[in-house]
Amino acid sequence: MTADMKKPAVLLIDDEEAILAGISYVLEKNGYRVVTANGGEQGLEVFKKENLQMVITDLVMDGIGGLEVLKQVKEIEPETMVVIMTGHGEMDSSIEALRLGASDYLLKPCKEEELLFRVTRCFEKLQMLNDAKKTNEKLKKSVIKHQELEKSLRASNKQLELLSTLDGLTGIANRRTFEKFLEREWKSSMRHTQPATAIMMDIDFFKLYNDTYGHQAGDDCLKKVARTIEKSLRRPGDLVARYGGEEFVAILSDTSQKGAFSLAEKVRASVEALEIPHQASPVNKFVTISLGVASRVPERGDASSILISEADQSLYKAKQEGRNRVME
Ligand code: GH3
Ligand code: MG
Ligand code: MG
Repeated sequence: MTADMKKPAVLLIDDEEAILAGISYVLEKNGYRVVTANGGEQGLEVFKKENLQMVITDLVMDGIGGLEVLKQVKEIEPETMVVIMTGHGEMDSSIEALRLGASDYLLKPCKEEELLFRVTRCFEKLQMLNDAKKTNEKLKKSVIKHQELEKSLRASNKQLELLSTLDGLTGIANRRTFEKFLEREWKSSMRHTQPATAIMMDIDFFKLYNDTYGHQAGDDCLKKVARTIEKSLRRPGDLVARYGGEEFVAILSDTSQKGAFSLAEKVRASVEALEIPHQASPVNKFVTISLGVASRVPERGDASSILISEADQSLYKAKQEGRNRVME
């Protein structure tokens, strides 16, 4: 782009060469680029080619007159600034021009200062319009960005919430989730005088497993056992959680002691069926678990910890009796 092309540009339309020359001289002297056209027809042709932001046109010309130029220019590019030049006695037409969307009018012959004042004002208006448009665009973009941020924030909050309920190693519910769930279940059982049931589970000789295969293998074993327990127990309304180290717990809703016992037996068998080698175990070639079942209908004033300590006692019995078994 040449330096000249950077100047504010005006399309000047008149059918008198003297006026074209006079006005061009003044505008160019004051830093504008002027494109001239002799008459409305030529003016519109140039406008279509160059798409200038400002047009000064004579009102009365042979052929296409100023009002028609104004109409067509506004049709092509509504934001173009159009200034109409009128002679004396053409005041009504000037008003009509303003009504049709002209930005301003000039009375001929016009003084240099007046011409410059009107043209400058038009360019200031254009600048303001452009600035407003840019601000608007920026605002729109920042609103969209804000909405996107909010969306991803909501998603990661949800993710965080979910993660805080799960055990980091095994991915099943953690102790905190278990405590909350137990409390709810206990109260509901109390209201409905229905049994609340718990199964406590503990991997047999897990210390020996770690000692034999290493802590990493121990972690992998915990994950597999957790997944299997969850798969074989999980019904809607039940919860399986990691209670601590190598201990797991399940809370079963609306399940009798008998039902829970056979479910526990199913879990025991499915862990054994994983056939995770455990050569140091005195009770089996593979990793096994012991399980304790407890079930009771809570009475007013009973704490939920009663259920857990009963299940724990059953688990202790299972260990005493030789492990890899269910006791109640
Ligand atoms: P028992 O049959 O009587 O339950 O014997 P045990 O060896 O399983 O019981 P003990 O309580 O003596 O040992 C539990 C072991 O579990 C000790 C501990 O290092 C291991 N352990 C606890 N949490 C984790 C864990 O997150 N990863 C691994 N790899 N080991 C764990
Ligand atoms: Mg153990
Ligand atoms: Mg233990």
